[in-house]
Amino acid sequence: MELIFLGTGGAWGLPEINCDCRICTEMKKRGQKRDRTSLLLTGETTLLVDCGPDARSQLLRNGVERIDGVLITHEHTDHYIGLDELFAYKRNRHRGAFTPIPVYLTQASHQVIRKRFDYLEHMEVISAVEVEPGRWFTRGEFEVFPFKTYHGEFASGSVGYVIRLISGSGERVRVAYTSDFSSLPEIPPALLEPDYLIIQSFWLNEPVHNRPHHMSFQRAMEYIQRLRPKRETFLVHMGDADMVANDPANQVLKKYPPKDPLRPGSDKAPYPIPLDQNSWQHTVDQILGDYNLPYKVTVAQDDLRIAL
Ligand SMILES: [Zn+2]
Ligand SMILES: [Zn+2]
Repeated sequence: MELIFLGTGGAWGLPEINCDCRICTEMKKRGQKRDRTSLLLTGETTLLVDCGPDARSQLLRNGVERIDGVLITHEHTDHYIGLDELFAYKRNRHRGAFTPIPVYLTQASHQVIRKRFDYLEHMEVISAVEVEPGRWFTRGEFEVFPFKTYHGEFASGSVGYVIRLISGSGERVRVAYTSDFSSLPEIPPALLEPDYLIIQSFWLNEPVHNRPHHMSFQRAMEYIQRLRPKRETFLVHMGDADMVANDPANQVLKKYPPKDPLRPGSDKAPYPIPLDQNSWQHTVDQILGDYNLPYKVTVAQDDLRIAL
């Protein structure tokens, strides 16, 4: 049983096209990238969580031979526009040997996604299965619990998923996956004390305006303390919208000033904004230590594999 982080970037990936901010420049220099966020769970059954514009390269480079189900978190294109790539799984099967891949999503997400992909349902590449927040369902050995997340008015179908499974060593394990969100309307018991928590950190610091309704690491820390993950937390869906000191690119639209940035002490300067993978991990470790938070938090990177 394995968790594979197929992508860990925000809606436009990193480095972003046409961006020469300090973050994108540093990542390019170090040959780092973040594809659009997506996760794969592999056991007897293979489940894909979200299917964005990088799906083809993500599935190809990880040699994913079969997909038994797709969980869609919400109706933004960076989370579903790759569904057409699933055609390959039908095209390359013997005649009669293929059954449509179930795609689990809320009714509100389905209403949006079917406008583009009605032909995938008609041609039996996928079969849409509408799920309800608060109601468990099963796919293979995975038990899945959708829960409501708030991600703004243009993502009214937005959910996260708790996935329950039996690990390779026979233990019951719960993985809580939250995608883009700015708040949780309620916290169901199934979401408390998961073994693993996957959570967005689009910025390090909460910005003055959070109109895209995303999660910063600063506020993710509050959710980590409320949900109390037992083993490990992974940060995903990261962007380049924090303002880095003295960066001329701070003038561009996407760069937001912080509201009240994280700092090592009230009289100290804020933590420098991390530019690349290693400095992100270093900064997160330092903050957790300074704030006395006894949690293991890993800044996920593309193709990170975790054995369960
Ligand atoms: Zn997104
Ligand atoms: Zn979104």
